[in-house]
Amino acid sequence: MSTDANDTRKDGKHKRAMEKQKTKVDANIEAANIERGVSVLLTGNGKGKSSSAFGMVMRALGYGQRVGVVQFIKGVQLSGEEIYLRDRCPDVYFYQMGTGFTWNTQDRSGDIAAAKTTWQHALTLLSDPSYDLVVLDELTYMLAYDYLDKEAVIEAINNRPVEQSLVVTGRGGGSELRDAVDTVSEVKDIKHGFTAGLKARKGVDF
Ligand code: ATP
Ligand code: MG
Repeated sequence: MSTDANDTRKDGKHKRAMEKQKTKVDANIEAANIERGVSVLLTGNGKGKSSSAFGMVMRALGYGQRVGVVQFIKGVQLSGEEIYLRDRCPDVYFYQMGTGFTWNTQDRSGDIAAAKTTWQHALTLLSDPSYDLVVLDELTYMLAYDYLDKEAVIEAINNRPVEQSLVVTGRGGGSELRDAVDTVSEVKDIKHGFTAGLKARKGVDF
């Protein structure tokens, strides 16, 4: 077969495959007709959970939507997203657990108190229909350590305003949380530069 004939055959095959794909996609778009806020859990051991959540923050802000972010971490390392939101986005509600929490939990009751205070900020957002997007970054660890009541957290997620979207990040989180949300993505760790000695990088890792 000449090169031209081969190209024509490939073009035809590609066109038929694309037509089939379009029919399928169009049917799926047609079937997805429920309009309400979406809850997303970004979990897994790979890199990309929080950065994906902040990507959605940018998307929402692009449409002039109201955004709230609560981070359930101790501010051991300042992050670009924290600096940006605090300094440049006065309209974005931002709260970070900041004090009290230590990963090695030397002060369990202090950690629990900090988690509960932070949860109150989350609850305020989850009760306020003026927020279009709420990010609860690293919330899963609070559930894993039993610092927050899982049922209360899931109830608040379920009862949030209908139009409000929610993103929860963190490894694990448990089957109840997975069942409660609409979309669950697991970021798989194929490899991470850190294990090969690459230093965490500004703008990429924090
Ligand atoms: P990111 O904030 O970069 O999206 P993440 O939210 O998926 O990462 P976390 O567990 O919250 O992951 O950890 C945040 C930090 O740890 C980042 O600096 C990230 O590069 C690093 N990190 C994430 N996953 C891994 C991994 N598998 N090995 C080593 N470091 C990791
Ligand atoms: Mg993270």
